[in-house]
Amino acid sequence: MQGKIIKGIAGFYYVYVDEAGVYECKAKGIFRKNKVKPLVGDDVEIELLGQKEKVGNVIRIMPRKNELIRPAVANVDQALVIFAAAQPQPNFLLLDRFLVMMERQEIPVKICFNKKDLVSENECQSVCQIYSDCGYDVVWTSALLQDGREEIRQLLRGKTTVVAGPSGVGKSSLTNLVQSEVQMEIGEISQKLKRGKHTTRHSEIIPVEPGTYLVDTPGFSSLYLENIEREELRNYFTEFREYEDSCKFQGCAHVQEPQCGVKAALEEGKISRQRYENYLTLYQELSAKRRY
Ligand code: GDP
Ligand code: ZN
Repeated sequence: MQGKIIKGIAGFYYVYVDEAGVYECKAKGIFRKNKVKPLVGDDVEIELLGQKEKVGNVIRIMPRKNELIRPAVANVDQALVIFAAAQPQPNFLLLDRFLVMMERQEIPVKICFNKKDLVSENECQSVCQIYSDCGYDVVWTSALLQDGREEIRQLLRGKTTVVAGPSGVGKSSLTNLVQSEVQMEIGEISQKLKRGKHTTRHSEIIPVEPGTYLVDTPGFSSLYLENIEREELRNYFTEFREYEDSCKFQGCAHVQEPQCGVKAALEEGKISRQRYENYLTLYQELSAKRRY
């Protein structure tokens, strides 16, 4: 039988099989010998150990499409990062940090601003512009008014999506909105699993419909740029790319160098000042780190 690992707790793997439900599994010794550890998100083959009880063994891990480090999840297609339009005010530096981390891991990101009901159309437009100009898809929703539900569903369909964002922006409200059709059993299972929740801050997968999964991550209020050198940071501000050819110096960091194509684009209003300033902030942060 084939399924997907949706949660791992203390040596147990909870494997979701379409239409059959969730099986509590252990990994057989072969994985330990090969030093391969099953990951949440892995597509696996299981052998059943009982008729009535839904228990089994994970006997094979299918080849991984990718493996994210943070969160530690396999086979991720994209990330959906959610911020609130207000209450709390969006923290754009935090958003840019998130975008950098995902660009680094080559995960496409969609951006959602929730609580649209709290701001004017004009405010939406100006925020939206900055990120759509950088090539990101931006969706506006109001979980409160159930506005944007279909758009979110479309965006998630057939994919495994990491859902991330600070606390209080409406992540749970939005995910509840799109998973109203999930079978009861999953609700019961996750209730059961919640009891172990205090022991782990690991990610958990929520099956939405066949082929569509959400990776629920803990809310964050800060993000460190891990394993990034300041020289590579510019690669993750993807809107800089088309102007870098006009930089005089190869490997220009777009900070203090003369005749910089990116700074010229900034002066012409082709690159967002807010994004550029956040780039400088992160560049300086990475420069400070390396002194130790
Ligand atoms: P989470 O911490 O990101 O999971 O956020 P929750 O889903 O728990 O929502 C946090 C608070 O924001 C709750 O009081 C929700 O009722 C409220 N909320 C969620 N979505 C909306 C929305 O679209 N508009 C408004 N005005 N409030 C919302
Ligand atoms: Zn430059």
